[in-house]
Amino acid sequence: MLSVQVGITPVDDDLYRELILDHYRNPRRRGSVDDADGSLEADNPLCGDEITLTWRLDGDRVSEIAFTGKGCSISQAAASMLCDQVAGLPRKDAVELARRYRQMLVADGRPDELGDLEALQGVRAYPVRVKCATLACSVLLRALDAVQEGDAA
Ligand code: ZN
Repeated sequence: MLSVQVGITPVDDDLYRELILDHYRNPRRRGSVDDADGSLEADNPLCGDEITLTWRLDGDRVSEIAFTGKGCSISQAAASMLCDQVAGLPRKDAVELARRYRQMLVADGRPDELGDLEALQGVRAYPVRVKCATLACSVLLRALDAVQEGDAA
């Protein structure tokens, strides 16, 4: 049974909603990376979401990445999905994936090989929740030194 603390998950599609709740309840890559090369945190005061990423690079590859945080199901599921998708990728590919994901949410980009993150596409219909869905993504782009003009939100 869903507990009340999960809150309202603004996604109409049942399969996508289940996937989001699964990541929320059983987060992948939750925790902290040992001997991390860096850590970075950010919050979304509109909703009370917090995400801290820790990561380790092996050359130009994101060899390990993990998150801790608290907040709504969207923010935590997005962090779980994102960390799981970018772990092991070359930094360039991780950045590219994070940007594609952001485009899907803020610029009506078509979901394109985003894996579980595609489940969050429905969130773009709820502008107040988009920041929940992009919080981990914003941290990741800053963490990988990939902030571009306009990425600051
Ligand atoms: Zn939130």
